[in-house]
Amino acid sequence: MSPIDVGRTRHAAVDAAEAQRVARELWGLHGQAVRLDGEYDDNFRLDTSDGAYVLKIAAANEDPALLALQAAALDHVRRRAPESVVPRVRKTLSGEVLGRVELCDTQRLVRLVEFIPGALLADVQPQSAALLRSLGAALGELDVALLDFQHPAAHRQLQWDLRRADALRQEVVRIPEAARRELVTRLIDRVELELLPILAKLRESVIHGDGNDFNIVARDDRVVGVLDFGDMLRTATVCEVAIAGAYAMAGKNDPMGAAAHVVAGYEGVLPLRDSERRALFPLMLTRLAMSVIISAARKTRAPENAYYTVHEERAWRVLEQLVDVPWDMAQDVLFGTRAAADISVSIARRRAALGRNLSLSYDTPLQIVRGWRQYLYDADGREYLDAYNNVPHVGHSHPRVVAAAARQMAVLNTNTRYLHENVLRYAERLTATLPAPLRVCYFVNSGSEANELALRMARAHTRQVDVIVSEGAYHGNTQELVDVSPYKYDGPGGAGRPPHVHEVPVADVYRGAYKANDADAGARYAAYVAEAVEAIGAKRRGVSAFLIESLLSAGGQIVLPRGYLKDAFVAVRDAGGVCIVDEVQVGFGRVGSRFWGFELQDVVPDIVVMGKPMGNGHPVGAVVTSREIADSFDNGMEYFNTFGGNPVSMAVALEVLAVIEDERLQANALRVGERLLSGLRGLLVRHPLIGDVRGAGLFVGIELVRNRETLEPARAEAKVVVNALKDRGILTGTEGPLGNVIKIKPPMVFADADADRLVETLDRVLAAM
Ligand code: PMP
Repeated sequence: MSPIDVGRTRHAAVDAAEAQRVARELWGLHGQAVRLDGEYDDNFRLDTSDGAYVLKIAAANEDPALLALQAAALDHVRRRAPESVVPRVRKTLSGEVLGRVELCDTQRLVRLVEFIPGALLADVQPQSAALLRSLGAALGELDVALLDFQHPAAHRQLQWDLRRADALRQEVVRIPEAARRELVTRLIDRVELELLPILAKLRESVIHGDGNDFNIVARDDRVVGVLDFGDMLRTATVCEVAIAGAYAMAGKNDPMGAAAHVVAGYEGVLPLRDSERRALFPLMLTRLAMSVIISAARKTRAPENAYYTVHEERAWRVLEQLVDVPWDMAQDVLFGTRAAADISVSIARRRAALGRNLSLSYDTPLQIVRGWRQYLYDADGREYLDAYNNVPHVGHSHPRVVAAAARQMAVLNTNTRYLHENVLRYAERLTATLPAPLRVCYFVNSGSEANELALRMARAHTRQVDVIVSEGAYHGNTQELVDVSPYKYDGPGGAGRPPHVHEVPVADVYRGAYKANDADAGARYAAYVAEAVEAIGAKRRGVSAFLIESLLSAGGQIVLPRGYLKDAFVAVRDAGGVCIVDEVQVGFGRVGSRFWGFELQDVVPDIVVMGKPMGNGHPVGAVVTSREIADSFDNGMEYFNTFGGNPVSMAVALEVLAVIEDERLQANALRVGERLLSGLRGLLVRHPLIGDVRGAGLFVGIELVRNRETLEPARAEAKVVVNALKDRGILTGTEGPLGNVIKIKPPMVFADADADRLVETLDRVLAAM
């Protein structure tokens, strides 16, 4: 037999006049009846001079034992917890809880319960933390009252019993989409192996078993009623909060945060045991999977019962988002609400123990305790969509990268004065992504170390020291790099531009001298580089290097105009200089259409500098150059770097490259990036504050201006927007010499839905300003 109940036999509907007659005959109540929605029963709201009630006429084939179970349970709860939010039952004139009537030639059992005024939780949007906690608390109180309740009918076989999740396997075929079938099968496999065996050993009691938001009544931001006891059964007690938590997640931007509130409310009344806590998250996923499988089965078997599919799409979305979250991590998030350290105490400790010229992001700083894919979680269990961090390139805590590091760490970590396979393999794989003659690698530990080394190489090769950089640029934190970073030496505490450094204007076709509509803008900005070369020559010195990012980040999330680097490189090389491209921010597929940012400019640099995304958060950087330059650098002085190229770093970097390829993340960056850019451009017509939207792949900038003619920068507004987005669960930052550019450079697993959410949220934030 199929485990799926496709719905009970329906019968001729009872009308309001008959309902009024039943109320009169059995309860002596005269009133006005109005039909309500119901899954199987005929339900009526009955308004009388003695108050409002719900008259419930059970389905003809309803099992009387189940109605007796419900009546006994409600009575038990009422006695244990007189203030409970379960509805009061009104007995018939003859003192019975259940009445019996004949309607349309069928015997029907009828009950009368008080009507609880308020709104269904499903109709309350958004649902506050207080409301979700109150839901948990209401169910906790109900379950405490039921802990010692016994009834033979509660030992029932119910398809919704989470202990029977394995029975759903045969119904998976009813799901039309292959990817979704695969998802739930994967989940059921794991549930059968790791959850069901422990579930059988957990504390049991009779529970309500269906805390979905159509069964909950809310008023004044708290839960005032729990309805519909038709799914009551004796099972693992923790299933109660798992079911309510699962439904609370559906439709939320921050599903785990919502569930954590329900759990916190529940535990305030009925604390869970350790074994129950471990089971909770997989139980929630299982409930969502049940919901979608049963919906799919009912749709194919009994399409007329489409009523049952209300939760379906929202449940799918949560499942797709959370199915791969490690269970122990989810447990920490669900129960993390009470572990939060006081932010002001953390700030004070930081000020005492760390250098104070290290800033904190956002007006109210975040305590991030965990990351997963494109999400970050704070100490309160709140989830943030990470649209900012490009270091966790293939996603926060990617299990393959974590495993690669742990594996190699357990075997060997040492330096590169020994032969090791990892560094050789990585050097070969990395250079395979680069054009000739970029074939020689040097491995370091940061972007700064890499730029520092690149400048040393350029000096060794050219025997010159003068460097040309772009205005507003940042290339690293050492003295040598601060000296070539206008963002630093011209900023607070900076000592100004050193004599060997020469700046060229930012090749910015929005704010600069040459605009986007100028087909020669690239050549015109490159002419500034030629001028700088000449100025150096006029001082009877030579050019060592032109150091530039292939898309400018500190410069304001700038996409360079066509032809810029080509012409600039010619000018620099004609004077004997070396062209260094800094790919620390934008390399490894981020720009979408190409693997390296410089490829957008159709040039081949002499030296490429890499960092941030290369190790997905593990500190590793690289310099890649030609044999010719490498030979100039090989002047007798050894270049040794203790940690550079060590087996662990190389194992990590190898895995990152493999994941980029296996998960097709470059193609993802291209598709999602285009969707994001077009969504953001759509906002231009509605929000005059947006002056420009630009980017390539998942490297995007939104420039805010107070006036589209004068381009007066909206710096304060950018800060407000970034903080408002953060308050709505999305992390971005500000950028640019004027601080008025919102920067977006998320982990490469950023999805279409994330792009849409970012656009919609920004739209709302701007509309509210
Ligand atoms: N180059 C660029 C373009 C950067 O953005 C940064 C860091 N923000 C660096 C170099 C320096 O990298 P790191 O902080 O790893 O030393």
